[in-house]
Amino acid sequence: KKIVYSGIQPSGNLTLGNYIGALKNFSELQDEYNCLYCIVDMHAITVPQVPKDLRATSLDLASLYLAAGLDPEKSILYIQSHVKQHAELSWILGTITGLGQLQRMTQYKDKAAKQKELNAGLLFYPVLMAADILLYGTNFVPVGDDQTQHMELTRDIAERFNSRYSETFVVPEMMRAKKGARIMSLQDPTAKMSKSDPDENASIYLIEDDKATARKIKRAVTDSIGIINYTDDQPGLKNLIDIYSVFADLTPEEIVKKYEGVGYGVFKEELAELVVDGLKPVRTRFKEIRQDKTYLEEILKAGDEKAERLAERTMKKVRRKVGFVQL
Ligand code: ATP
Ligand code: MG
Repeated sequence: KKIVYSGIQPSGNLTLGNYIGALKNFSELQDEYNCLYCIVDMHAITVPQVPKDLRATSLDLASLYLAAGLDPEKSILYIQSHVKQHAELSWILGTITGLGQLQRMTQYKDKAAKQKELNAGLLFYPVLMAADILLYGTNFVPVGDDQTQHMELTRDIAERFNSRYSETFVVPEMMRAKKGARIMSLQDPTAKMSKSDPDENASIYLIEDDKATARKIKRAVTDSIGIINYTDDQPGLKNLIDIYSVFADLTPEEIVKKYEGVGYGVFKEELAELVVDGLKPVRTRFKEIRQDKTYLEEILKAGDEKAERLAERTMKKVRRKVGFVQL
């Protein structure tokens, strides 16, 4: 079986963007691939986190993975910081990565612009991501569109290592969601929806009550054109149609047709209902799983061990190829 790898940062409350672009698709891959899903807490601390919140959010995220259908019998679910090989490999990969390449990453530029004091970890983020992926011989990486540039860098780093030290890493491919690979902010349809966005009205969170979800959809920024159409001139509406399309299993064209001559208010109300119903199973299961700390810890411990065994196998090769003494 081919290997699938993906990670999500416990950097806040997961959004509908994370769900549609990533999480929702993970469970469907479990039968066809050997999957590893990671809680990337080391990535999360590249922006300031409150330690006790980070701990809670990491367990929220583990519960959400499971609530979304991840089966720990089939897939490996684990915490990045528990597998030391991630830090070790990222250091080595950093030595073959161009500084200029890292400085050109748009995620770095976006996040750097929001920070008062820049830390080196934020710049190094894509190298750690490359290490995550390359440690496991990953073939496919299901992530949202925003990770395209990081995926290209990962491939580049893998190829560079292979040509410098001989064939070692599988060069991974990105696996884009069929629909909704880029969900936009409800308050600014030119920016992607992000869990680290301080404006709570900009995102629908997986963990929030149905009323909040409905209210945010009704308040989502649209336009004054007043006609339901799927075009770049109406980016707010386009985003809402994309979301609708995921939950109703209709194409944007079918949705436009369905709402011909109907106002935004009615459309938004029906969308809110669809989203609330669509998220209901995940929200219900989340509450059950999150309460069961023993169960969660058991799964995570087992995942750590399995991941670490695989990671160590890769690292043994890497250390030898790089020329580190082995005793
Ligand atoms: P942060 O603001 O802390 O970076 P985030 O919302 O961007 O949070 P990440 O943990 O960086 O979330 O990414 C987790 C996964 O969700 C990745 O696969 C990413 O591509 C995907 N993703 C993030 N935002 C969106 C979005 N708006 N639409 C679709 N997929 C998304
Ligand atoms: Mg992100």
